[in-house]
Amino acid sequence: MTDLTKLTAVEIAGLVASGETSAVEVTQAHLDRIGAVDDRVHAFLHVDTEGALAAARSVDERRAAGEELGPLAGVPVAVKDVLTTKGVPTTVGSKILEGWRPPYDSTIVERLRAAGTVMLGKTNMDEFAMGSSTEYSAYGPTRNPWDTDRIPGGSGGGSAAALAAYEAPLSIGSDTGGSIRQPGAVTGTVGAKPTYGGTSRYGLVAFSSSLDTPGPCARTVLDAALLHEAIGGHDPRDSTSIPAPVPDVVAAARRGATGDLTGVKLGVVTEFTGEGAEPGVMAAFRESAEALAKLGAEIVEISCPHFKYALPAYYLIAPSECSSNLARFDGVRFGLRVGDDGNRSLEEVMSMTREAGFGPEVKRRIMIGTYALSSGYYDAYYGQAQKVRTLITRDFTSAFEQVDALISPTTPFVAFPIGSRTADPYQMYLADLFTIPTNLYGGPAISVPCGLSEGLPVGFQIMAPTMADDRMYRVAAALESAVGTLTPPTL
Ligand code: GLN
Repeated sequence: MTDLTKLTAVEIAGLVASGETSAVEVTQAHLDRIGAVDDRVHAFLHVDTEGALAAARSVDERRAAGEELGPLAGVPVAVKDVLTTKGVPTTVGSKILEGWRPPYDSTIVERLRAAGTVMLGKTNMDEFAMGSSTEYSAYGPTRNPWDTDRIPGGSGGGSAAALAAYEAPLSIGSDTGGSIRQPGAVTGTVGAKPTYGGTSRYGLVAFSSSLDTPGPCARTVLDAALLHEAIGGHDPRDSTSIPAPVPDVVAAARRGATGDLTGVKLGVVTEFTGEGAEPGVMAAFRESAEALAKLGAEIVEISCPHFKYALPAYYLIAPSECSSNLARFDGVRFGLRVGDDGNRSLEEVMSMTREAGFGPEVKRRIMIGTYALSSGYYDAYYGQAQKVRTLITRDFTSAFEQVDALISPTTPFVAFPIGSRTADPYQMYLADLFTIPTNLYGGPAISVPCGLSEGLPVGFQIMAPTMADDRMYRVAAALESAVGTLTPPTL
C-alpha cells in the first residue's frame, strides 16, 4: 500500500479527487506519523486532531456531493504558530501567550480552509519569530530530521522539520529576515518568501511589520507554488497588502520543470561568494549554478555593494519595530498575567508579566529597539538604518536592470549542532547573512535544495524583483529538475 505521507501535495490531491483515497485516510496517515515521530522531532506545539479530521470529513462529503474541489483539497498543512487560528491555541513560541485561543482566523488560515486543505496543527518556532534555530522557543527546540542533534533552522524550524519528517506535505511559515528560507535550506525542503504585501499579515502576530511576510513551505517547488497561489493575493484587512492578483506562480513552476532556461539571465551576488560561507556550501552552490547554465541560463556576476550593511541595518530596524509591536503584551489584554493580587499597581503587574513572559532574546530585541528609537539616538541608529535600507533597495533595482534574478547560497552554513550558537547572539544572526537583503527590499526569494555538504542539505536562493514571484518559481523548478529533491534519512 502507498505510504500517503511520502506523497507530494499534487499527488495527494489527485488521489482524493479521483476517489482512490479519502481526505480522512490521508489525514489519519499524517496524524499517525506525527504520533510516531514527533516526540523525537518536536515540530508541533499543538496537534488539532479533531479539527483536522472534521475538515477532512467535510472535504470527503463535498466530493461525494459532486462539488468541484480546488487543487489542494484534502491536503494536510501545518501552520506556524505565529498565525491566529480560531479556537486553536496560538502561542508564537512564547509563554506570554500560553493558553490564548484567538477569536478569529488569520487571512492565511481562512484561505487555507477555503482551499479545502486540512490543518493538522501549529508548528514550533523561535519566540516571536526571533531566531535562526528554534532553540529560542519557550517550549523547547525542534530537531532536524536529518540529524536530531542539529537545529532545523528558525524561526520556522517546526514548519520545515514537519516536511522533512513527513509529518505534513505542506506548511506555512513567515519570513522577516529569512525564517522561511533558512529552515528550508537546512532541512532540504523548499521555502518561499513572497513579495512583501503579496500575502496578508492579517492575523500574523507582528514582529517587524515592514518586513513580516507569510509564505509557503513544501517538499517540491510545484507544491510550494500551489500553496502560494492558495494563500496569496489582496486582502483589504491588511493595509500594506498589494491590490493586484498573485503572479502566476503555478504556471511558472510548470514551465521551469521542463528544464529550459533559454533567455534567462541570472546574477551571482559577488558579495556573497567570498568569506563567510562554508566551502561545502559554496561548492554545492557553484555546481548548481553550472547546472542552470546547462539549461540555457546566462550567468554573470553582479556587485551589490550595500548588501554587507544589511545585517546591521536589519538588527536596528527589526528590533525597533518589535519594541513598538510587543508593547501590546501588557498582561491586560492577552495571555499571561503575573502578580495581580489586587494590591499591586498596573505598572507592577505589567512589569512582572513581561519579566516572566518574555525570553532573553525577545528582551534583548526590545531593549535594542527601544534604545535605537530613543530621543538623541534615533537619527544615529534607526534613521541611519533606514537610509541603508534605501541603498540596498537601489542595489536590487539596478541589479534587476541587468539580470532577471539574483542567485546565492541561502545560508552560509549547514545545520549546526543544537547549543553551538546560543551563547553568542551574533553567531546566530549570521545565519541570515544572505537572506536579509531581500526583506529590506521587499522582493520575493525562494530556497531550493541543491545538494549536500558533509551529508547535510544546502539551499540555493533565487531572488526576484517585487511582484515577479513567478520568475523565481521558474528558475527554482528548473533547478529542481536538474538536481532533484532530497530524501531525508528515515527517522
Ligand atoms: N533570524 C532572523 C531574526 O532572528 C529572522 C527571523 C525571521 O525571519 N522571523 O530576526
